[in-house]
Amino acid sequence: MATALAAVAVEPRRTELREFPLPEIPPDAGLLRIEAAGMCGSDWPMYLSAKPGPRILGHEMIGIIEKLGDVARARWGVAEGDVVALEEYLPCGHCEYCRSGEYRSCLETDTRVAGSVRYGSTPLTQAPALWGGYAQYLYMHPRTVLHRVPPGIKPHVAAMALPLGNGFQWAYLDGGAGPGKTVVIMGPGQQGLGCLVAAKAAGSASIIVAGLARDAHRLAVAKELGADHCVAVDQEDLAGAVTRATGGRLADIVIDASSGGAATVNPALGLLRKRGTLIMAARKGAIAGFDLDQVINKQILLRGTRGHSYAAVELALQTMAAGTLPLERISTHVIGLSEVDAGLKMIGGESQVRSIHITVAPWKS
Ligand SMILES: [Zn+2]
Ligand SMILES: [Zn+2]
Repeated sequence: MATALAAVAVEPRRTELREFPLPEIPPDAGLLRIEAAGMCGSDWPMYLSAKPGPRILGHEMIGIIEKLGDVARARWGVAEGDVVALEEYLPCGHCEYCRSGEYRSCLETDTRVAGSVRYGSTPLTQAPALWGGYAQYLYMHPRTVLHRVPPGIKPHVAAMALPLGNGFQWAYLDGGAGPGKTVVIMGPGQQGLGCLVAAKAAGSASIIVAGLARDAHRLAVAKELGADHCVAVDQEDLAGAVTRATGGRLADIVIDASSGGAATVNPALGLLRKRGTLIMAARKGAIAGFDLDQVINKQILLRGTRGHSYAAVELALQTMAAGTLPLERISTHVIGLSEVDAGLKMIGGESQVRSIHITVAPWKS
């Protein structure tokens, strides 16, 4: 019988390889042969959690459609053999959010809501178990959101469709990056670099990327992707650098994609010109001493953002197809299923090895 090998997160901090039977495919569903799955920072808290029980992590898949039901073939407009990128969301299609194109907010695919389903976080107990990207095959649920991958894009680059999609959502669609704009990006991880790619593709006038001295490699990649200035904030004063780079005008848009806690928030406000936009893309918890008066005095637009729209992922794929930016530099590791546990520890910063974007290639031996 045909089976799929998968790396299962069985308990906090432990994954093990297991084999699963390939499911029967109903008329409105499909089966994806996974070519590559990107590791995401959000895998880390899931790897540490005992709830909701054993599951296959990984929610940023690209692959080749292996099997399709007749209804799915007609609905999705694709055929067996097509290369597609999947979103993590499995939206209901009929709620207010879905009806207005904001399906990433749909409660039926929100992992905090009981009974919801989403790729990379749904437990094995929900049939047919193959809900995650760190596996050879994935069950394509009837509510799958897919994108065609343009030809010629290597799997480890195509696997960045969602983090780059986040970049287009946060920097361009939500933040308004574009001609004449100065954009500051705090945090040079894969999401921050995704914002850089989007801000660059949108034609921003000046882009400043901030990180720490230990992020030297990430900042070097930011330079290659077109950042005008890179600042290690533990070695150089960021406010001074932004003031100098803008002739005192300060930034139009600041995106905080840094994992460094609440300490970055008030400094981020200080980098903005009047009526600038602060995009908060990383959770910070409750913030003591939040400088609300600065938000009011400078009439700052403060916006929390999460995930991506359909349009944002399409823009990411088009940017890959254009081939004008050295996106492969963001990819630091391609690993097999047996290395998923080590990869997750890299994501969580518990490894000596520093990574930016890690791709799991489930057929790699
Ligand atoms: Zn993700
Ligand atoms: Zn919905």
